[in-house]
Amino acid sequence: MALQFWEAGAGACQPVYSSPRSAPSRAVSCIQTIAMPHDYDYDLISIGAGSGGIATSNRAAMHGARCLLIERDDRLGGTCVNRGCVPKKVMWYAASVAHGLRDASGYGYDVTVGGFDWNALVEKREAYIRRINGSYDNYLGSNGVTVVYGEAVLADAHTVRVGDKSYSAERIVIAPGGTPVVPDIPGAELGITSDGFFELEQQPKRVAVLGAGYIAVELAGMMQAMGCDVTLGIRRERALREFDPMLQERLFEAMSSDGVTFETGFSAARLERDDSGIRIADASGRTLSGFDVVVFAIGRKPRTAELGLESVGVAMNERGYIPVDEFQKTNIDNIFAIGDVTGQAELTPVAIGAGRRLADRIWGGMEGRRLDYDLIATAVFTHPPIGTVGLTEPQARELHGDAVKVYETSFTPMYHAFTNHVVKTSMKLVTVGESERVVGCHIIGLAADEMLQGFAVAMRMGATKADFDDTVAIHPTSAEELVTMR
Ligand code: NDP
Repeated sequence: MALQFWEAGAGACQPVYSSPRSAPSRAVSCIQTIAMPHDYDYDLISIGAGSGGIATSNRAAMHGARCLLIERDDRLGGTCVNRGCVPKKVMWYAASVAHGLRDASGYGYDVTVGGFDWNALVEKREAYIRRINGSYDNYLGSNGVTVVYGEAVLADAHTVRVGDKSYSAERIVIAPGGTPVVPDIPGAELGITSDGFFELEQQPKRVAVLGAGYIAVELAGMMQAMGCDVTLGIRRERALREFDPMLQERLFEAMSSDGVTFETGFSAARLERDDSGIRIADASGRTLSGFDVVVFAIGRKPRTAELGLESVGVAMNERGYIPVDEFQKTNIDNIFAIGDVTGQAELTPVAIGAGRRLADRIWGGMEGRRLDYDLIATAVFTHPPIGTVGLTEPQARELHGDAVKVYETSFTPMYHAFTNHVVKTSMKLVTVGESERVVGCHIIGLAADEMLQGFAVAMRMGATKADFDDTVAIHPTSAEELVTMR
């Protein structure tokens, strides 16, 4: 039993936790005595210092919770910072520069490119990442979050072991993220994953990327632009099968015209090394050969195997994901899961959003606060990039039948009116019902990644096609086409 202070906030009593660091500094206007199981070392232990774990810990600590964050890697930030979004975007910018150099003559520049120093770029990229690692460390420290490095294993529902040390907490958040899947085929050890891609210190010449999701198309596109000769092996006819068909088709055309070789209907069954490099065979004996590097980009799996979850009774599905309720709670009342391990929209901002809302609800007194998983916008960093939110046309037709009306446009953006290599922009709005509420917005083209965010806000607010049409266009831009479609 311990005394806890409650301090009046904006219209409601806000909890202030009674650790020495967070003792209330302002006048206490209402005081209650409540039961607090204060035998725990911490209020919160987060397992995994990636996007989800860091966001949850920081926000909880800002609300006054005593937080411990455990990370198995030797640096903070998880996949996004170290082996994902951040280094990927650096490479995407490098690829964009290559596209700009290709286009320069169309604007009157006589450019001769002497070469491209992959290793120099990688060194700068890694130095940039180390600065981000450091800033995370500083920020966690300034919020009073304790960080411990090592393998976390649950001992019971309130206790986590790291090596020979045990830590207890009232609540535990599991946020260890995921790892790339390596196929179970002979010779798989000859391939690398996206983790290995970010370890390449020298530029490969001939590369095969196997897979058809975000990572496959992003890595294939950027390596081709930077001067590699890339083959993209996909099992079906098009990549990004879950995306709107218009995006799949336009991306196929754009990547093909950039020089990526698509091998469709190809599913690797064996990798071997021969004199020309790595050779890949499918089950029918069809082979692709001569590769320096083969990248598997066939999906990711949750990193739940060695956390001791079974021994504590945390439920997982057959693929190792942890099911959670709408408040991120697992089947155990005081244990929560955030981010990729839940198998819901495996995106950094989703993990961050869910973690912050969880902390706001539990330690910030914001009752009912939770992440709404509807209408999550996402970008794919290809050339040109994709921005997409909401229902695809097939999804909308399946749900709403004839009530669906689609608006579509395709045009040459002004930038490409002057370049030898022309890349079209395509857009689609999917609307439903008499009011033509916009339920899907899909863009592929220059700046689609930056264009979409504001439209996603409008759609969350229930915008209709008439609202789009009533919005005065910004001219001359590509985005204006979204508010002028007929
Ligand atoms: P994805 O789940 O996006 O896609 C993997 C695809 O590879 C599958 O959809 C499947 O497509 C294909 N595939 C699966 N198994 C095989 C196989 N054995 N052989 C050949 N192809 C196979 O996985 P990623 O690894 O690309 O990305 C993982 C997650 O990371 C994504 O879901 C995304 O949420 C996130 N991410 C987000 C990014 C962003 O926001 N820009 C960037 C990168 C990743 P098919 O069935 O059509 O063959």
